[in-house]
Amino acid sequence: MRHSNLIALNGRPLDQDLSRRLNRAVRCANDANCFALSEARDGAAAGALSMFGVIAGTGVGGGLVLNGRLVRGADASAGEWGHMALPYLTAEERAADPACYCGRSGCVEAWCSGPALSRDHERQTGRSLSAPEIAAAAKLGDKACQLSLDRHADRFARALTSVIKIVDPEVIVLGGGLSNLDGFADTLAKRLPHWLSGDDLVARIRTPLHGDSSGVRGAAWLWDDN
Ligand SMILES: [Zn+2]
Repeated sequence: MRHSNLIALNGRPLDQDLSRRLNRAVRCANDANCFALSEARDGAAAGALSMFGVIAGTGVGGGLVLNGRLVRGADASAGEWGHMALPYLTAEERAADPACYCGRSGCVEAWCSGPALSRDHERQTGRSLSAPEIAAAAKLGDKACQLSLDRHADRFARALTSVIKIVDPEVIVLGGGLSNLDGFADTLAKRLPHWLSGDDLVARIRTPLHGDSSGVRGAAWLWDDN
């Protein structure tokens, strides 16, 4: 996520600076980590021993919660799957090799964010539409828009295979603006078995119980996470 460079943990510089300035204790984590913690504690993944929370919107980020605790990582970058490379590239994708704001190219975020969906649609059709506009047109029967959504879902599924193969989380909760698009979770869940074996993969993909409020709720849960 674009906020990654603002990640700070207890005792890290940003927390310390904010604590000094505000004269009170401060705890910080990025939006994806807060989202994951909220959905893990009392949301769509409550009771699961392992969960991965996905934020997909203008960027792509993630948060990992194991045994109810947020996994922050040695350098506070655990769960940052948005800047892993998209796997299983087609020849066409290899040629497109979209640039990512992080300075590299071909990142999951460069393929799977909302703006990436728009850019892909424009590459294929010459039409400039936002992600919600593409979803709305597809619902009305626009075949080119539906194909763009299908390509996007397939890429999202491929990207998630890397997470699933390493962590094998019991539950994956999809959050962020893209998760609000009609049929996003269902289309993704149906695409996953093409890249992974596992009979309960579809059941593991869930939408957030707390919707767009989970980020704020998760920030509050940070006070119960150490
Ligand atoms: Zn990147």
